[in-house]
Amino acid sequence: MKLAHLWIQHRTLHLNSTFTYQCDGFSVCPGLRVEVMFNHRKIVGFVARVEETNLDKETWEKAAGYSLASVLSVLDATPVLNEELFDLGLWLSRMTISPVIACFQTMLPRYLNPRDTTRHPVVERWVQSDQNREVPAKYQDLLRSIDAVGGMRYKDAKEAHGGRIDTLVKHGFLKKFERNAVYQEKPVEKKEIGYALSDNQLAALEKINNGAHSTLCLFGPTGSGKTEIYLHLAQEAIKQGHQALILVPEISLTPQMVQRVQERFGQDVILYHSRLNDNQRYQQYVRVLRHEAAVVVGTRSAIWLPFTNLKLIVLDEEHDNSYKQDQLPRYHCRDVALQRAKHFGAKVILGSATPSLDTFARAKKGVYGLIELDVRIAGILPQVKLVTPDPRRQVAQAIHAAIEDRLAKGEQTLILLNRRGYAPVLQCADCGHIAMCLDCDRPLSVHKEADVLKCHSCSITKPLLDRCPACGSTHLRMIGAGTQKVEEELRLQFPSARITRMDSDSTSRKNSHESLLKEFEEHRSDILLGTQMIAKGLDIPNVTLAIVLGIDQALMRSDVRSVEETFALLVQAAGRSGRGAGKGEVLVQTRAIDHYAIVCALRHDYIRFFATEMRYRKLGQNPPYTYLIAVEWSSKSDTSASMSARQAIELLDTDEDYRILGPVDLGKTKGLYRTRMILKGKDLDRLRQRVWDMLEKEELKGDVEVMVDVNPFTLL
Ligand code: ADP
Ligand code: ZN
Ligand code: ZN
Repeated sequence: MKLAHLWIQHRTLHLNSTFTYQCDGFSVCPGLRVEVMFNHRKIVGFVARVEETNLDKETWEKAAGYSLASVLSVLDATPVLNEELFDLGLWLSRMTISPVIACFQTMLPRYLNPRDTTRHPVVERWVQSDQNREVPAKYQDLLRSIDAVGGMRYKDAKEAHGGRIDTLVKHGFLKKFERNAVYQEKPVEKKEIGYALSDNQLAALEKINNGAHSTLCLFGPTGSGKTEIYLHLAQEAIKQGHQALILVPEISLTPQMVQRVQERFGQDVILYHSRLNDNQRYQQYVRVLRHEAAVVVGTRSAIWLPFTNLKLIVLDEEHDNSYKQDQLPRYHCRDVALQRAKHFGAKVILGSATPSLDTFARAKKGVYGLIELDVRIAGILPQVKLVTPDPRRQVAQAIHAAIEDRLAKGEQTLILLNRRGYAPVLQCADCGHIAMCLDCDRPLSVHKEADVLKCHSCSITKPLLDRCPACGSTHLRMIGAGTQKVEEELRLQFPSARITRMDSDSTSRKNSHESLLKEFEEHRSDILLGTQMIAKGLDIPNVTLAIVLGIDQALMRSDVRSVEETFALLVQAAGRSGRGAGKGEVLVQTRAIDHYAIVCALRHDYIRFFATEMRYRKLGQNPPYTYLIAVEWSSKSDTSASMSARQAIELLDTDEDYRILGPVDLGKTKGLYRTRMILKGKDLDRLRQRVWDMLEKEELKGDVEVMVDVNPFTLL
């Protein structure tokens, strides 16, 4: 009898146990997907292992204590995960303390997860020139441009060149043909760069290519030429027939980076990011599998693509939070990059102007190589100045004056405030009542534009109150300010200025990121106001003023990394100003003038910030001096999560080499009560083992769910 051991979707964290099914008559091997019945439902399982047994069914069932069902069908002809990816999934499960099946699901495009056997290739019409024809002079440029990008979709060609396309087809200069649809961005023509690498850049390349380290931290301010180094490395990889992966925090926020890569490599680039739909993702996945292009530019999930010859992985802005997934499995893209690089013998480049403390600490210890690029190529670093807040308005007078000055000169201004909505709190002036989200135990934000109260945790909206539900008073106060309120003030102050607001409320429509950014880039707008999404990759020469608001609230958050993140945000914002020839200026509105994050940002002094912050981390024995694992229980009822946590803690040993913080009841989020415990210690593997053991022993009752976060980014 032949048995298949399967990983299947299962609620609890009793994870690494597989389920066994009979599979006589089926051709199965590890990595294939099969269908089985589980709890009276037809579901998909991944084959972990196949076993031949001499036992007959009856004896086997008796020994196992349950009856053996058979596999219903096999979904794939060949494994959807090759050996490397299969092992990677198991590794990911161990590292993040997550069910294996959840890891596989994260790794695969959704098309390969659910059952989907009805897929047919979509056929599209394309045009290409007929090489054998002598072309009239007036059409030569047009045909050359179509050939330069390897032919075009008929639809795209008509859009670009109008009725001439049909004329050319009619006279036989262009041939129509059909091909299976592959996802492709609009074709981009290659451009040559007009400059040679600087000595600094050459030295960096030399160190990357010939140094002893396979992982290197590329540390340099924005504009110091890091991207150019990535592109050169990718070029070298292509030349040798290798694959290269360039990871960016968020594609739609870094359009210029994408464009540069495309201009350099033309059709040899595959984009992979969350803006693609499931079908497009699948098509890109297949293109990587077939080696149709050598360079991939993508966001976090691109790290899972089925490379077979990967020799370069770049993480641009490696400190960015979006590299950490905040859902199961809670992995960090950098860890996966290092793991895959080990397999392929690839180089990993971690680039940033403000590397994460973890990365920089490793680089200083010599675990990673360290490359410093300390000169900005174009322009000089902008001057950063502090402005004291004015309690009567959101934007102080000195800032108003600076904006006025830029408007008069036709230059652009960027304003960063990391809080959306109109005001974060609505309070009754008479009795002090605060409008709360009952599902989340937190205040509702006022969104004036839509005339609603909105919870920023669960997104629920309620009509805006006109009287206090507790005492009936109509005297309601909005406390604090978000982007909408600042926008209102700016419009009053500068009635003729063109203002663009960018936050997740204004960009919820598809592609609106791009169009808002474009509006600003093409100077159809004078002021770009937004949350941190505007601090990321913008490179607009005409921006000579960057303003940062709301920094004090950010510094007051008591999260593990809040100071580190605030410093990075300040430096990023500063990097957005003065990229052209004009001298840039940065104004930071703050009262915390002595805070080291602010003092160091004023001087663009990462090294000093690093040293100071590391001292505090050492004092508190916080990462990177220790490791943390957060374990969180949640339930609908208000006591069972808390009880589970308290029972689980009993299962832990009391060794000297680690500490248990909590459990702490965190109140409600999205209707669930949460209780969290944190394990802190220097030996991450031992911490992991403790959590595994605890979860295997613990019996979860009723509606309790448990969630684990290894190296958590936020604990609020
Ligand atoms: P970073 O990625 O560190 O922000 P970039 O690679 O984008 O830096 O370089 C900043 C600017 O300088 C870009 O406009 C780029 O085209 C230009 N640049 C980069 N390297 C050189 C070079 N060697 N010579 C001239 N210009 C360069
Ligand atoms: Zn009241
Ligand atoms: Zn809520």
